[in-house]
Amino acid sequence: MFWLLPRTALALLFAALGAGLGGWLGEAWGHGRLGAMLGAGAAAALVALVDGLRGDRLLTWLSSEMHDGAPPLVGFWGEAGVRVERALRLRERALSAEREQLAQMLEAIDASPNGVLLLDAADQIEWMNQMAAAHLGLDPLRDQRQHVTHLVRAPAFVAHLQARQFEQPVQIPGAQGKGLLAVLVRPYGQGKRLLLTQDITERERVDATKRDFVANVSHEIRTPLTVLAGFVETMATLPLTEVERQRVLSLMGQQAKRMQALVGDLLTLARLEGSARPPADQWCPVARLTQVVEQEVRALSAGRHELIVDTGALEALAGQESELSSALGNLAFNAVRYTPEGGRIQIIARRGDDGSGELSVVDTGPGIAPEHLPRLAERFYRVDGSRSRDTGGTGLGLAIVKHVAQRHGGELLIESAVGQGSRFTLRLPPSRVRAAAVTPA
Ligand code: ADP
Repeated sequence: MFWLLPRTALALLFAALGAGLGGWLGEAWGHGRLGAMLGAGAAAALVALVDGLRGDRLLTWLSSEMHDGAPPLVGFWGEAGVRVERALRLRERALSAEREQLAQMLEAIDASPNGVLLLDAADQIEWMNQMAAAHLGLDPLRDQRQHVTHLVRAPAFVAHLQARQFEQPVQIPGAQGKGLLAVLVRPYGQGKRLLLTQDITERERVDATKRDFVANVSHEIRTPLTVLAGFVETMATLPLTEVERQRVLSLMGQQAKRMQALVGDLLTLARLEGSARPPADQWCPVARLTQVVEQEVRALSAGRHELIVDTGALEALAGQESELSSALGNLAFNAVRYTPEGGRIQIIARRGDDGSGELSVVDTGPGIAPEHLPRLAERFYRVDGSRSRDTGGTGLGLAIVKHVAQRHGGELLIESAVGQGSRFTLRLPPSRVRAAAVTPA
């Protein structure tokens, strides 16, 4: 109320001045009292008029959008304008801080690897992030306020929304039927719902690969086991001659070896998957690597093939020697196993144009048709199953080589044509290659 005092004092002062002036003028006409009263009234009316005009300016500003500041008024109206403006600015600042916070939150949700979509109580889309739009093939702006089941028509999804049992996620095909999505629905607010979408294509693929792998391993082990069990029964129940007994024992030995080889390769794969990346500063001399492999290849070939080793171009490779030697060994043994007698096998080390190091095994064997090449390094993939098994193959050799190559930052390259032999190359990046000082001619 303190603002009332100066205003009252001012009004009284003006009234007194008006009365004085009116009285003085009235005296001249012989109506001093009347003049004083009129003067006081006129002065009070003037004060009220000025007040009214100021108040009107303020009201005009208040009823506008109030983008400009309050009108510069003195006194009560000026003070009222300043206070309204201050309150307004405070509210605006709080609002813009909230808006900023909301924008940041939406930005964070937008950056989420999972899709987020909000539905109102009538299942109409209120908002979605980019990922949900990509997963479900929607447009965040165009599809707002659309009924979600008009756009996402997968029967499993529609039934899931209607059933209102949201404990478990529902799996539906991704946009345009590609991939697989898991959609989790969570109720919130008043009948609203939050949809979380996740692309589980890769997870499903890995799960399926694991299931296939276990099924394959079981099958690979069961076959020799069944054969072994049959032989054991034969020996237990039938009276065999010494020659027959020797033959059965030899066949049993073969099956046991087959299982041993399979378990050995499985353990190698498990070790590769479980161990740390090969060191980048442990140099393995190429001559030593190839020497060991050459000896083993000669033993396996037993003179049936011509073997040429030309590895002088590379001095050393950085990595795990046991892995590199096992990879090169696998390639070379395959060449021996698949190349008919009289064929030629070459083990060649070469430096690529980009400085990479290549260990290649080239043979003059039967070659491989192009449709098999992309899948050749998959576990248990064989072009000719019986040929592979007859020669002691486990179907895991190339998978091991590919794994070793990738662990060393390299790759396994396969070039082959039916009737023209094959070239398998283990290529390592330049950082893991030390070329020989003098390249032999
Ligand atoms: P496997 O134990 O069956 O040899 P791998 O993984 O080593 O398993 O090879 C996969 C398949 O690739 C083989 O079954 C065979 O069909 C084919 N293959 C591998 N090396 C050669 C080669 N040098 N010549 C022809 N075919 C080959």
